[in-house]
Order: sequence, then C-alpha cells, then structure tokens
Amino acid sequence: MRVIAIDGPAGSGKSTVARHLAERLGLEYLDTGAMYRAVAFAALRRGIDPAEADKVAQMMGDIEIEVDATSVVVDRVDATIEIRGPEVTRAVSTVAANAGVRRELVARQRSWVARRGGGVIEGRDIGTVVFPDAELKVYLTARPEVRAGRRHKEVSDLDYEQVAADMARRDTLDTTRDIDPLQEAHGAMIIDTSDRDVDDILDELLSLLP
Ligand code: C5P
Repeated sequence: MRVIAIDGPAGSGKSTVARHLAERLGLEYLDTGAMYRAVAFAALRRGIDPAEADKVAQMMGDIEIEVDATSVVVDRVDATIEIRGPEVTRAVSTVAANAGVRRELVARQRSWVARRGGGVIEGRDIGTVVFPDAELKVYLTARPEVRAGRRHKEVSDLDYEQVAADMARRDTLDTTRDIDPLQEAHGAMIIDTSDRDVDDILDELLSLLP
C-alpha cells in the first residue's frame, strides 16, 4: 500500500502539493483538514458549542462525512463552501483538540486509505500519528507573511490583517494542544515553500520515490 503523508500549517502549500503529487502518482488524495472542518460545521449546525467537548465527542457517533477531491458532504448537506468560511475556520481548532473527535477521524482516515489501497494524505498529524510508516513523509512550511498572503487570496471577503490574526491563533492552538499537536514527523522531508514553485517541489519529492 503506497501512502504519502503531507503535514504543515495553513498556507504552507499542502493542498496544492498533495493534489499534484496524487495526480502524478495516480493515487487518490485525502484532505483531512476538511474532515475536521466538517465536524465543526456539524456542531454549529446542530447548535452545539464547539467548546463543549463532551457534546461534540458524542456527536461523532452519528455524523456522516463524505470527503472527495471536489466536495464535502456532511449529514447529506453539501458543506463544500461553508466549511471554508470564517465561522467554521474559527471553530475548527477547538474541535480538533477534542480527543473523541480525533480518535474517530483517525479511524475513518485509516479505513478510507485501506479501502483505496493507499493515497496522498494531507493534514497536521498524518506522518506523526495516522500513518507513521508512510513511504514518504513531508513537512511543508513557509514564512508567516507568505502563508497569510496565500490564504488572503483565497478568502477575498476578509482583510489581510484579519486573515493573518486568525491564522496565527490557529497555529498556536494546533501546535500547543495536548493531543497530537502539529509537529515535524520523525524522518519527514522538510520543505520551505516560500520561494519555490509547485513543479520544483514536485520534482524533488518524486526524485525521492522509487
Ligand atoms: O488544513 P486545514 O487548514 O483545512 O485544517 C483545518 C484545521 O483542522 C487545522 O487548523 C487543525 O486544527 C485541524 N486539523 C487537525 N489535524 C489534521 C488536519 C487538520 O487537527 N490532520
């Protein structure tokens, strides 16, 4: 089973690199961040405060999440656009710090990959927790202002300062939480994407694979 793990903070280039790499290798691509966003979306929609850990964990028993390369469907509602919105973005790191949420999503991620016989998986804990034995582990990073600039381009309705502040807050929550914080996996290839284009990065990664 061929598994490639790609981790890194928001705006580091994970999605772009992971999607292209999957295409070049003929593998499927899984965005695990979309799954955490789907949980935050479901909590908000059900009127559950994302900070109410027990209630959010309980919800995991009956939440249906379908993630594919182009859409995210939560309890049969198309949430593709809304999971990228400011409300979900502000709530997601809180639900992602919830042990019950992580346990369930990690299990779903492993079975997603097992069913497809492999894949390129992006997230925050893929190389450290979900697939520590992945064939290739990559940790992408970039200068904070570059990351905020990329995110700002994607969410045109917020000003740059707001995007940069939200991102810094999320970085802190994701790297300092008790359970499976974002960190470089042992043996990961660390790449700063600030001043490099996708093709250059892809060439480097592909050269590491047999
Ligand atoms: O990748 P994206 O920015 O969409 O991820 C949204 C949030 O989901 C992250 O800020 C993090 O809190 C959480 N996440 C996580 N573990 C993953 C993927 C995402 O905790 N594997």
